[in-house]
Amino acid sequence: MRRAVVLFTGDLRLHDHPPLRAALAAADEVVPLFVRDPAVARAGFAAPNRLAFLADCLADLDASLRERGGRLVLREGDPAEQVCGVAAEADADEVHVAAADSGFAQAREDRLRRELTAAGRRLHVHDTVVTAVPPGALTPQGSDHFAVFTPYFRHWSGYRLRDTLPAPRTVRVPDGVRSAPLPKAAPGPVPGGESEARRRLTGWLRGGLASYDRGQDDLAGDRTSRLSAHLHFGTLSPVETVHRARAVGGAGAEAFVRQLCWRDFNRQLLAARPRVSGADYRTRQDRWRTGRAAQADAAAWREGRTGYPVVDAGMRQLREEGWMHNRARLLVASFLTKTLYVDWRVGAAHFLELLVDGDVANNQLNWQWVAGTGTDTRPNRVLNPVAQGRRHDPDGAYVRRWVPELAGVEGAAVHEPWKLPEADRKKYPDRLIELSDGLARFRQARGLEG
Ligand SMILES: Cc1cc2nc3c(=O)[nH]c(=O)nc-3n(C[C@H](O)[C@H](O)[C@H](O)COP(=O)(O)OP(=O)(O)OC[C@H]3O[C@@H](n4cnc5c(N)ncnc54)[C@H](O)[C@@H]3O)c2cc1C
Repeated sequence: MRRAVVLFTGDLRLHDHPPLRAALAAADEVVPLFVRDPAVARAGFAAPNRLAFLADCLADLDASLRERGGRLVLREGDPAEQVCGVAAEADADEVHVAAADSGFAQAREDRLRRELTAAGRRLHVHDTVVTAVPPGALTPQGSDHFAVFTPYFRHWSGYRLRDTLPAPRTVRVPDGVRSAPLPKAAPGPVPGGESEARRRLTGWLRGGLASYDRGQDDLAGDRTSRLSAHLHFGTLSPVETVHRARAVGGAGAEAFVRQLCWRDFNRQLLAARPRVSGADYRTRQDRWRTGRAAQADAAAWREGRTGYPVVDAGMRQLREEGWMHNRARLLVASFLTKTLYVDWRVGAAHFLELLVDGDVANNQLNWQWVAGTGTDTRPNRVLNPVAQGRRHDPDGAYVRRWVPELAGVEGAAVHEPWKLPEADRKKYPDRLIELSDGLARFRQARGLEG
């Protein structure tokens, strides 16, 4: 009787799961294992919104395994110790896992390999589980990663993806491997789990995808897929998502697949430079504002009371939904890092506290992109929240949805409440700063003339 362990990490699904398929091909019985690592909580990464989503994912994975004759085994503790313990209990000679990308996951993989090898067992690492194209598979001449998106996208688009793998029909799990109880479902802002992910993807491919190219920046229309948390937790496979979108075809699908490429782009960058989760990818010698005034500005930003309606709408949506529209993410991040000149890490940490899709690669590298310390080829661009509001929320409906003080203001006038009579502004706050003052301070800090 041959046995194997499959360690689930950011890939909480049964469809298109290379480690599970390989384990089932090699062994008669398989232990599907998830380890809750207390180090994740110690690192401040166990945000309640994501824990609620995770609880749904684990319950759904367990239910799908039970339909196939198996079950999920849950353990708590150091992943290397737990995996070695389970492998010994099950007498499994191999362990299968998705390839790591972040520094945290790379360290986990290294330890796992060392300890399993010492115990006479093998670790099999599988790529194309959490990305469509493996990090490092595409490189420009003279570097181990792409630093600019456009050429990466060109190469990525020509890369031949592997075929999608079906979910297994049966999974036999050895008797006697004990499991901790699954976490209790907690109410979260977004339902998790592979079944929900697949329903959502199918609905999106039939509905929203076709007009995605025209609607992706429409703040009020909410015309994006909202699949980000599913891609983060791996309840959806990126390979399958790309294949299925391409099969639909058209300009909407092309624009959507391009966004999925951004995901891979960030991951290949983080895999090559794990330090950029906390350090500037390209330093601009910033001496970010600190001290009491900067802290008060950051607090107003977090609470959605900067006095710039579209910024405040985004921040309030984040607090309420654990999600924010991409256009709003760009705007609020530009406002914090450029107009207020506060360190991108302050903003990134707040996002990670609340986002259900909070993801080290996508979050830290998008923050760096906006702050100009990342891969943006125009690092000093500053987004004007009034002009952007007028452009991407022309009727003001997004602002009115999230900023009740301004709910009675009609049309685009909602983007400039300081021009309204006092009575119409209710208790909506004054602007923290004039945009021109913020711009001048930023340009001076970056040593740009004028
Ligand atoms: C400051 C800032 C912080 C961000 N933090 C995160 C984060 O923590 N986690 C996260 O998944 N995304 C993050 N993003 C990227 C993007 O905003 C979200 O992925 C997107 O808004 C999620 O909504 P959606 O699923 O409807 O996206 P769609 O527009 O439907 O896009 C489809 C998928 O493509 C990927 N994608 C889209 N835009 C980007 C992008 N710019 N970079 C990387 N991948 C992208 C996502 O996986 C997304 O689900 C951040 C962007 C900014 C500007």
